Amino acid sequence: MPDASAPGSPDVTKSMDQIVALCRRRGFVFQSSEIYGGINGFWDYGPLGTELKRNLKNAWWQDVVQRELIGPMGEPVDIVGVDCTIIMNPKVWEASGHVGGFADLMSTCRHCKKLMRTDHVWDMLTETEWFKALAELYADGAAVDSMQLKRWADTKGKKLAPNLALVRNPQVTLSWLVERMAGQPVAMPLREFLMHLASEQVAARGLTLPCPHCGGELTEPKPFNLMFKTLVGAVEDPANVAYLRPETAQGIFVNFQNVVDSTRVKVPFGIAQVGKAFRNEVTPRNFTFRSREFEQMEIEFFIHPGEADAWYRWWRDWRFSWWQSIGLTSSNLTLREHDRDELAHYAKEGAGTSDIEYRFPFTAPGFGELEGVAHRADFDLRAHATHSGKNDKARYFDQVRNERYFPHVIEPSAGADRGTLALICEAYTPDASRPSGVFMKFHPRMAPVKAGIFPLVNKDGMPEVGERLYRQLRKKHVVEFDEKQSIGKRYARMDEAGTPFCITIDTDTLSAQTVTIRHRDTQQQERMAIDAVPAWLDRQIGTED
Ligand code: ATP
Repeated sequence: MPDASAPGSPDVTKSMDQIVALCRRRGFVFQSSEIYGGINGFWDYGPLGTELKRNLKNAWWQDVVQRELIGPMGEPVDIVGVDCTIIMNPKVWEASGHVGGFADLMSTCRHCKKLMRTDHVWDMLTETEWFKALAELYADGAAVDSMQLKRWADTKGKKLAPNLALVRNPQVTLSWLVERMAGQPVAMPLREFLMHLASEQVAARGLTLPCPHCGGELTEPKPFNLMFKTLVGAVEDPANVAYLRPETAQGIFVNFQNVVDSTRVKVPFGIAQVGKAFRNEVTPRNFTFRSREFEQMEIEFFIHPGEADAWYRWWRDWRFSWWQSIGLTSSNLTLREHDRDELAHYAKEGAGTSDIEYRFPFTAPGFGELEGVAHRADFDLRAHATHSGKNDKARYFDQVRNERYFPHVIEPSAGADRGTLALICEAYTPDASRPSGVFMKFHPRMAPVKAGIFPLVNKDGMPEVGERLYRQLRKKHVVEFDEKQSIGKRYARMDEAGTPFCITIDTDTLSAQTVTIRHRDTQQQERMAIDAVPAWLDRQIGTED
């Protein structure tokens, strides 16, 4: 077992329960409508979480749209922003394929009737207590003890997975298992072992995974549309049905021509958007990771088809290093290139698709997607040209090449909520030596509160000096002034909030105009002239002029 109390070590397994508890206690994230029992898949951000998420979105916007970025051929990367509506003409979603095809395969449990995404079943199973107990019985693979399994079925199994075939009909299930294993030199994989325990009718229906909730048999996978429907106007008529957008990207595609006509951008260029997206996820879970309402930060970067490889690689690598630059520096961040058979049909011939993934405590030792970077070819622009009837008139005219074409697209599509969650998980650092027992090691640019300003005692003119400094720093940064409680308690509060610096006003401030700065991560203190603090803080956060 790794030592979860080691401060700062990147790859220790952190407790998700403790992280969720801290998020609620300190006001990072709350359940939506909590006083009414919450609503599954929806989350609110409290004061600290709101600042954190805003810092993430602002950093993205600054670095993607506002600051100078140099592309793969040494030229400045041109990107402009849009802010589109959540409800759009439903034809958008027919053209994009979402009405017909934005469907995940779903399975229902024949016993408890719960619905779940077929591709999530295995992950959900591995999180259950009863599966973990079975996996332990199968620890060494080769030797399966039927008696032990039967005993498990009669005790733990009856309680936790009452509808598992092994529990309902151990005789039949075990006989299939024994038959399969007879004379096999190599142990079967754990997954197949479980499938045997879950399938009574192996000969008739084949092997299936069981329901994670009760162990029951799952139905054949069927498609389920993930878009939320609503009605536009007063009349409840199917003709008035509209959808809450399931991604921000389509707002960009349908405005491509407007942006070209109204600005001076020329291919290659990008359009960026940050905004809400909605998906009626069947099994929202893992805190904010899979929510039904979430925010995306998307770029559609339009290029000449001949330059797809260079731009794809450049975007993939730059996006990966961007996440590192805001604090995801540990080996918990990884880049995964998709295999060809994972790719969407239009992407098969393309430059590639990759995911930037983070090892969240609930995915460990595996990873979960933070951002996808995909070469989408000309699929979207072409689809909208066809569905809108503009056809070849919608082709872009490239003056430099004297050529008409549908630009190809490289799409880096990131989640602001998953990004915020990754920052929280990365920052969470248990440290038994501190009064708070934990500190949040945010990158100073991301930290919700940049500095705490504390008069050592609430007299002798110290609060007045502190307040003056507080007012000055507040012009640019979120800072807190706190004159109550012991200094130790104030440090502990700031450690849990992830505030990188605490500035104390003491007797030396009054005589020598210096303050003490305490660094969150090392707990080291340094003295500095009070006048030097504003410029010094700017440098730490990266906002110096
Ligand atoms: P997944 O496979 O996890 O469902 P996806 O591949 O469907 O994700 P995209 O459609 O590529 O996701 O969306 C881009 C980004 O939007 C994702 O990388 C993720 O950060 C975010 N995102 C997608 N679905 C959700 C969700 N239900 N909750 C929170 N963020 C999400």
